[in-house]
Amino acid sequence: MDRTYFTWPDRRLRYVCAGCGACCKGHGIGFDVAGGELVQLVARRPAIAAYLRRRGDTITAFNPRDRCWFLSTDGQCDIETTDGRAAKPASCRLFPFNRVFRIGSYTVVDYNSAICPLEIGAVDEAGISHAAIAAEIAAIADPAVVGTALPAHDAEAEGAALVATERAACAILHEAAARGDLRLGWSAMADATAFDDERAVADAAMRAIAHHPWHPPSTPTLVNALWLTPSLRFGELYGPRQYARRADMAPVLARMWLAWLGFAHAAESLSGRAFGLPELTTMWTELAPILHVIARWQDAPAFKPGQVELASDDPLVRALAQKFVDNRTRGPDGRATLAAIVEATLPDDPVVRVTTLKLAESVIRAGFAR
Ligand code: SF4
Ligand code: SF4
Repeated sequence: MDRTYFTWPDRRLRYVCAGCGACCKGHGIGFDVAGGELVQLVARRPAIAAYLRRRGDTITAFNPRDRCWFLSTDGQCDIETTDGRAAKPASCRLFPFNRVFRIGSYTVVDYNSAICPLEIGAVDEAGISHAAIAAEIAAIADPAVVGTALPAHDAEAEGAALVATERAACAILHEAAARGDLRLGWSAMADATAFDDERAVADAAMRAIAHHPWHPPSTPTLVNALWLTPSLRFGELYGPRQYARRADMAPVLARMWLAWLGFAHAAESLSGRAFGLPELTTMWTELAPILHVIARWQDAPAFKPGQVELASDDPLVRALAQKFVDNRTRGPDGRATLAAIVEATLPDDPVVRVTTLKLAESVIRAGFAR
């Protein structure tokens, strides 16, 4: 077990499948082909063969957009109802704990916090245990389901570092969640003594971009955010956005996290309620380009020599890009910060600033590529 890192606390995360069918819509089905699951399914339901797809060694089945072939009108999985849970495709059996990654001899198990209404509760028998998920994973043979390889130059060394670093951060974050302690949560990821200064920067950036001050969210939202943070950290470190080299991500990630909490507070003022894991996850995804801008607010972007592909024809995005080119020709001490560039380039209108900065995500990422 010590080579496996789970991004959630043992037996505190729970869900009662509401049969909402959200996980059975439009995602296709992943089989434990190596474990013989596909052979059994095709033998029992030959019509599925026409919808199989192969990519590399992986075989999945296409689903119609609105629902899986096997999702019955009462929200039940027909395979499970008819043939038993063991016959259900492996990726469905694991869901929502079906994000299983390998790096060297280490395993990271993460969960889908956006779709399924997971909740945090006291440690008891209703909580999902790491041991139960580990046993489920061990029963699945196909690496396409439980063996997604994380990118690494030296997988064994990077796996050891990932598990040690994230497990340590996770322990402090969970302690912070249990106490509802924002500062302790920050200290899991960054220098504790920098907290007040970083909060002041996040406040200035939020006011400049969105005309909204930074405030911490309510305690229920904060507690949910703290429990969720290890999963979001892992997603940002190894996911597709890659705002910085992994080795340089720690301070960026901590500042993004702080900004996210400020926007969670702002969203509470819109909705008048606290937020759970799915809403906090989707907020992070939607706001990621803005969180990144706030994390870089006091840094100076500059394009490296060579052509930069602009994903947008928007004149304001091009104006930002030109400032990054201008910065290249200045010495490191003479470069304008992202804060100064935004203030000088974008009208002081939150609609313009937020939408332009989202459009400019790839430009801003390139401005900090080192
Ligand atoms: S999303 Fe979660 S609650 Fe909804 S059907 Fe799937 S497992 Fe059940
Ligand atoms: S096989 Fe069953 S659990 Fe899997 S997506 Fe289809 S209906 Fe849902």
